[in-house]
This record gives sequence, C-alpha cells and structure tokens, in this order.
Amino acid sequence: MNKYIHKYFKFLCSWCSAYRTQLLVVILVGAFLYLLPDGISRFQAYIQQEKVVKVVEIEDEIEKEASASAKATADREEPEEEAIITDMKPVPSPAPIQEVTEDAFPIIKKTIHPVSQIPNWGAMKTPEEWNRSYSEMNRSDFVRVPDYTLALHASPMDELTDKNVPEITAKLYYSTRFFGAYDLDAGEYSGAHPGIDLKLALGTPISGIADGVVHTVASNPIDGLYIAIEHRSEGGERFMSVYKHLDIGTVKEGDKISAGQIIGNAGMTGNTSAPHLHLQVDVISSDSILEHPYKPYLPEYIPTAEEANRNTMNPLIFIEKY
Ligand SMILES: [Zn+2]
Repeated sequence: MNKYIHKYFKFLCSWCSAYRTQLLVVILVGAFLYLLPDGISRFQAYIQQEKVVKVVEIEDEIEKEASASAKATADREEPEEEAIITDMKPVPSPAPIQEVTEDAFPIIKKTIHPVSQIPNWGAMKTPEEWNRSYSEMNRSDFVRVPDYTLALHASPMDELTDKNVPEITAKLYYSTRFFGAYDLDAGEYSGAHPGIDLKLALGTPISGIADGVVHTVASNPIDGLYIAIEHRSEGGERFMSVYKHLDIGTVKEGDKISAGQIIGNAGMTGNTSAPHLHLQVDVISSDSILEHPYKPYLPEYIPTAEEANRNTMNPLIFIEKY
C-alpha cells in the first residue's frame, strides 16, 4: 500500500517536477486569456469614458462661452431689463414731469410780506453802518416790518429828529409809495411808479408774497434781475407779483411757490441807486392792458388812480386782502 502511495506521490511529484513549469505557464496563459476580454472591454470602457468626459468638458466650455457671449450682448442691448431680471429689485419709477396744468395751479391760500425783518434805518448814522450787507448786520440792527400807513401819514422827513427813529425807518423802508414820485415825502398817485420800493440791505432774503407759479425769471437794464410769479384766487382772479433789482434768484420758471418761500436776494441790479426791492402786483383781467406774453406793467405817464388800479394794485393791499 505504502508502495502505491509512494508511487502515486512519486508520479505526482515527478509529473509535477517534469511539467510544473509548463503547468505554471499554462495557468498563467489561461488566466490571461480568461481575463483578457474583460481587460479589453474595461480598457475600451475607460477610453470611452475619457472621451465622454472630454466631450462633456468641451461642450461645457462651448456652452459657457455661448452663455457669456449672450449675456454680454444682452447687457449691451437691454441693460435695464437685465438689471430687473438679475436683481429682482423694485425699480423706482421716474419722477413725473412737473407740468402745471389748469387743474393743478395752486390757489392762493396765504399771503405774506416779502421780508421778515428790516434794518432799523433810522438808528443808523453813518454810511459805514447803512451800507452793510444783510449778512454783515447784527441781530440788533433789525426791527419788525413797519406799518405802511404810518409812513404815509408821518411828518416831512426834514422835521424828524433822533427821537423819531421808527418814523424815519418806515419812511426810508417805503421809499417810493404806490404810484408815488421819487421823493421820501411824496404820497400815492403822485408819480408813475407802478408798485412800492422797499429799502433793504444787499442780500436780504426775499420770499414770494403768495402761493403761485413762477412765470418769468429775466433780466434787463431797467429792472435788473426780476422774477414774476402768477397767482390765482379762489374766485378766479389772476395776478402777477413782480420782484425787481434782485441780486440773485433761487427759483426757475414753472416752479410752484408757497407764500413765504425764498425766491432770491435783494440787490441793486438794473437802474437803481441803492439796494432795494421793487415790489409790484399786476392785475390780469379783460380790463387790464397787460401784454401777452407777460411784461411787468410800466406806464409812461402818471395814470389816474382808476387806470392804475385797472392794471396793478398796491402790493400791500394785495397781501392784506388775499
Ligand atoms: Zn421801483
């Protein structure tokens, strides 16, 4: 038995020793052949995948370039629309163009004197004092606006003394009365002056005397820089307040003005000898002789009171009445 086993093992061993090399080669070749198709297919799949990845990458690149190009074109052509789409923020609508229509024209609700305070002219003794500009004066140099009738009924100028400071201040402030002559003692309807002259310091802020719309901002050698504001009363009356000899204007034609709103500064532009405000209120009606387009009314002769009031009205009465 042992003999057979021994032979068997011997056979085995001899077979093994004789053919183990070939066997190893056969096994390796078999394994290689067995695995080869799988390897090839895997290799092919790998190559294919690489190609797909490359193609996808290239396609992505093309797509990105196309997208960037399209965006750039869109940016150029429709920047606002692009902004709306990307930002998704509410776009503020543009401010409406301010057009003064007949319905929107502001009706006079309030009137006010064109200045809030005046220099106390009667208390100033030297040119150095009274020639100062508004900004150079101190708070103590100003007094409240005096009553117009006080100036009209005051004594002649040369009879006034240092004790009559308020009267002197009033007479100097209302230096030319409504249709008065250029004389500090002249009363109304003694001249051809269609308004009143208010003596002020250079640079005094001037406000519109009533609610309205700026009609004219212009300049000429006589009136200097002047502003005209149109006013309409609730009853349908129409007026034009005119502010002449201004140093600067701070409003433009078409601006809506509230009573008391600053429109410019007092100056001495045009035909003037000292800083003052020429304030005039023209009446616009079928009876008036005002030309259109509007010009401030300026009679070339001394009109009667009736004629004067047909075309203009005393600005101080206008302020009191409306
Ligand atoms: Zn004047």
